[in-house]
Amino acid sequence: MDYSELVKVYKEIENTAKRLEKTRLIADLLEITSKEDMEHVVYLLQGTVFPPWDERKIGMSSRLIIKTLASTIGYPEQRIESLWAKSGDLGTVAEMLMKEKKQQSLVTASKLTVRKVFDNLQRLASLVGEGTVNKKVALVSELLHGAKPDEACFIVRTVIEDLRVGVGEGVLKDAITWAFLPKVKGIEYGRELKSNKVLKVNSLKDLNKLKDETVVEPSDEKLAREIYNHFASQVQEAYDLTTDFAIVAHEFKDKGYKGGFILKVGTPIKVMLFEKVSDIKEGFEVVGKPAAIEYKYDGFRIQAHFENNNLKLFTRRLEDVTKQFPDVIKLLKSHIKAKDYILDGEIIGLDPKNNQWLSFQNISQRIKRKYNIEEISKKVPVMVHFFDAIRINGQNLLNISFEERRKKMKAIISQEVNKIELAKQLITDNMKSAEVFYKESLSKGNEGIMMKNLQGIYKPGKRVGFGVKVKPVMETLDLAIVGAEWGEGKRTKWLSSFVLACIDGENFLEIGKVGTGIKEKSEGVTFEELTKLLRPFIIKDHGKEVQIKPDLVVEIEFEEIQKSPTYSSGYALRFPRVIRIRPDRNAEECSTLTQIKKFFMKQRGRKI
Ligand code: ATP
Repeated sequence: MDYSELVKVYKEIENTAKRLEKTRLIADLLEITSKEDMEHVVYLLQGTVFPPWDERKIGMSSRLIIKTLASTIGYPEQRIESLWAKSGDLGTVAEMLMKEKKQQSLVTASKLTVRKVFDNLQRLASLVGEGTVNKKVALVSELLHGAKPDEACFIVRTVIEDLRVGVGEGVLKDAITWAFLPKVKGIEYGRELKSNKVLKVNSLKDLNKLKDETVVEPSDEKLAREIYNHFASQVQEAYDLTTDFAIVAHEFKDKGYKGGFILKVGTPIKVMLFEKVSDIKEGFEVVGKPAAIEYKYDGFRIQAHFENNNLKLFTRRLEDVTKQFPDVIKLLKSHIKAKDYILDGEIIGLDPKNNQWLSFQNISQRIKRKYNIEEISKKVPVMVHFFDAIRINGQNLLNISFEERRKKMKAIISQEVNKIELAKQLITDNMKSAEVFYKESLSKGNEGIMMKNLQGIYKPGKRVGFGVKVKPVMETLDLAIVGAEWGEGKRTKWLSSFVLACIDGENFLEIGKVGTGIKEKSEGVTFEELTKLLRPFIIKDHGKEVQIKPDLVVEIEFEEIQKSPTYSSGYALRFPRVIRIRPDRNAEECSTLTQIKKFFMKQRGRKI
């Protein structure tokens, strides 16, 4: 596919705020994309060349792009800088300069393909060592030489990982559904349906009769919605299993409505999540009796993938942290015997002096560590508790009961105390024993307990009620930082007051500002640390205030939620305070507006 076709769609998407239109445009593009180009088109649509869990980054700074533009087009860097300062978008600056240049030189560019752009950008990420900068410049410069002005705009934006087009997960999921699953009469697709091969259906079950029909005609409107939701959830489930829309689009293009069940060792799966309940009684009500009750360890979740002697570790955010944990790799290789596996567990820290379990805060430094890994693994030793299994010896375990999954997991792990163990478990229907177990768990420094339905299946990416958590701490919110202010006096180098946001659908809505709970130095969350973490995500820096791309999530304690016209969420927090940074959480996973409304209604005895 020519890159110009993709650019045409980028521009059309950019020019509409309507979700329906965006979905239509992307669905049309996907329909005409070949299987070979699917990966390239789907990633580039999202402004990247890697799946979200891949640790590789395109990794070119705005500064270096300015240099590249200057040498490619032959303009002084200073001029590019000042144009950038005015427009704030290096992409449009590149487009403008290319237009000017074309008028002068009249060189006709040869056609750029989507594949070429994709390949060059992927190669950028793999460059290391001496001469890297020049090689990077050469790769981008080669693309710019072959690009038309509007193509240059999107190449530049992709390289600096700021596409500004806004193709969210929801839109992409619908677009794949529209493009590759049968159309449902009665559902709005943004254009007339071609109805050459139609299957009439009276219930969801009738979908089993589907052969090569491209349109389904349900008997009524309600069924139409149900069927559409069924198709959309098929796509969602495939995404939960792979976290990679390129694989999902390819799968459905290939198999149509028969597609979706893809489980690959080495490709992280969205973890199953747990609802919170207020006490054990409510826990039993949700998960049934008897229940499996386990310690809720205060570490961080790890998904271990093993096949062909290759072992990978992913966090709850599906980041690859294999390199950071050579000690865990060694441990798993020596203590787990299976041809392949995908296991779900929790890494916790151990105090090297007395083998006491340490809380998450103590080991969080290991997740991001890139150097002196051996040294830190001795200073901050860890152990693993496994609590679930997704695949073992080629068998997909998603649809078998928790009880069975645990048995199969137990069979392959040789447990060793304070190194590798299964989560401590009690199976009971008795309130008293459950209470004793809960207290015991807390006394060991755990966060609380998990209560699990013995018959529950593994539902990736969902909080489904097969398991719940019980913990004593007061409610906190996980909020994304979307803005800040530069400090004053001795804090001028640091960002100080932070704008917090919750999420509603795909939109981040502000709910307050926080400056408390952050320290000037030493222990805990510091201004310096937050500034360092947030700096790469600064989108706009106007004077004292900066706008920040949502990425970093912080856990916030507060006294009360109040209604407020000041913030876009309609709510404000009274006395918010930062408890900790949540590196294990994506911005998209921060607290939702619905949760906030629920908390608001519950506080001070208000009834929902
Ligand atoms: P939290 O902030 O409470 O850890 P979360 O949103 O990260 O919550 P939840 O699914 O709500 O995740 O809560 C369960 C979390 O507790 C898991 O993600 C996992 O990291 C951790 N955990 C510790 N012990 C267990 C266990 N025995 N079974 C399942 N999860 C456990």
